Amino acid sequence: MIDNASIESLKNSIDIVDVIGSFIELRKAGANYKANCPFHGEKTPSFVVSPSKQIYHCFGCGVGGDSIKFVMELEKLSYPEAIEKLASMNNFSLTYTKGSSDYSDAKRVLEAIGQWYVKNLNQNPTPMQYLLDRGVSQSSIERFEIGYVPSGQQVMQFLTSALLPLPKAAEAGIIAQSENGQGYYARLVERITFPIYSASASIVGFGGRTITNHPAKYINSPQTKLFNKSRLLYGYHLAKESIYKNKKIIICEGYLDVVMFHQAGFTEAVAGMGTALTTEHLPMLRKGDPKVILAYDGDKAGVAAALKAAQMLSVAGFDGGVVLFPDGQDPADLIAKGQSEAVAKLLREAKPLIPFVLEKIVEQYDLRDPRAKEAGFGAVKQYIDTLTPIIKDAYIPTAATLLGLSPSFFGAQARPERARDNFTQRRDDVAQLSILKTLIEAPALIDNVLAVVDVNMFGNYAGLFSALINGENDNPGLVGLSVDESFEVMSEEELNSVLRNFLIKHYDMKLKNVATSQQIPFEKKSYLIRKIRTDIIPRLKKGELVAYDPSI
Ligand code: ZN
Repeated sequence: MIDNASIESLKNSIDIVDVIGSFIELRKAGANYKANCPFHGEKTPSFVVSPSKQIYHCFGCGVGGDSIKFVMELEKLSYPEAIEKLASMNNFSLTYTKGSSDYSDAKRVLEAIGQWYVKNLNQNPTPMQYLLDRGVSQSSIERFEIGYVPSGQQVMQFLTSALLPLPKAAEAGIIAQSENGQGYYARLVERITFPIYSASASIVGFGGRTITNHPAKYINSPQTKLFNKSRLLYGYHLAKESIYKNKKIIICEGYLDVVMFHQAGFTEAVAGMGTALTTEHLPMLRKGDPKVILAYDGDKAGVAAALKAAQMLSVAGFDGGVVLFPDGQDPADLIAKGQSEAVAKLLREAKPLIPFVLEKIVEQYDLRDPRAKEAGFGAVKQYIDTLTPIIKDAYIPTAATLLGLSPSFFGAQARPERARDNFTQRRDDVAQLSILKTLIEAPALIDNVLAVVDVNMFGNYAGLFSALINGENDNPGLVGLSVDESFEVMSEEELNSVLRNFLIKHYDMKLKNVATSQQIPFEKKSYLIRKIRTDIIPRLKKGELVAYDPSI
């Protein structure tokens, strides 16, 4: 058992703002901090953290408590597990009452096996030669504690001879139980190993790179109590000091890139765990308030990943830029070839985030075709509307130039005489965009919507709507909308009510057009007017969802 005095001193040494702030984004609000509650879905923050009381409380769903309670609830841990988690996050050594050695046995396994991996690398010429061939220096190998894992059999032998309990090794993600439940097998075999550390520099798992042409180039530890890949950044513990000092963080794609960046003196480099950057990384990226430089491969996958990340970062208010490495050359190769100066130049000339996003969105449309241009405009406007007003205003000219349109298409937010127009325009947009946002989150409702409206009714957003129907999940406009907090996801009931208003507006407009039309014969005219006025609109107003009829 954990010693009580040790729990008390842990409690005294942690601050609830740091603890909660390392899981979710907190914003200062007077003496307190606010956030969107992580325990119930909400769009306006009602979750409050009080540094003076060292507690949190949600006014929306009523949860509350201290740091330990928060970690227990969020990570679904028992009380001792939460204490251990907090201790490891803060590099705090707990003491245990006699007879128990429960404390981070998993961590002890990770440390022991990490040292064994390192020893193996020194005894195996093939992986060592591979690293040297890639240009990795001996001192980088030591600094990053790069190792090698031989056969599965040797892993099992090592664990047994070192008296490391197998269930704990399984808990640490080193081995897994075989399917028939009889015995264990090693998860990583015949790979170069990269230990992965948490931000507070405790080892949480391993990444393994194949040198035998295994189809999976990299394999990471599985998700464990210690290893949460959507929140970790490889190399962060070594880069942290430089990130704070130089107010810069370089995010690259591979572990070897990180090693080589550091070797060339760019010690602010980190990498994701082979997955895309997500909003869960934002609290960590925000620390020290650095500029975020995305250093990705210039291939199709790299560009797509950079676009997504740049979009998310710019919407979240980050400053920074994007560097795409040309001709399939990754930064590791360039540095290995002694081209550090070229890399430094590329980093200095990073394209700022917002212009990068705008360019990449526009590139996807053939501007010679007016319809494509209109769709491109819709996608750009969608993105630019997610930026804060002053930033948005600053980038409208760039966006307009890229599209070859007048800036007035984007609405002149700053001109008071046009404020009313904009308000009406914006109100229409909110309805359309809220429908789209709802469908992104609840695709099951797409059929309901398609049954009653037509794509063309979405005006500027017709392109986005088509993209949604076609399941183009990477469409930048849709990605932007999915991270945009200013549009609510509606319930089915709310959605139906918005659709009804939408249809009423459509038929009101239709009535006016029919009345003034020279083309429609008189009898047809009076039939249409009667039908719309006395049948369709009253039914809609009564709450019936009347399907759009293209013949009317
Ligand atoms: Zn709540």
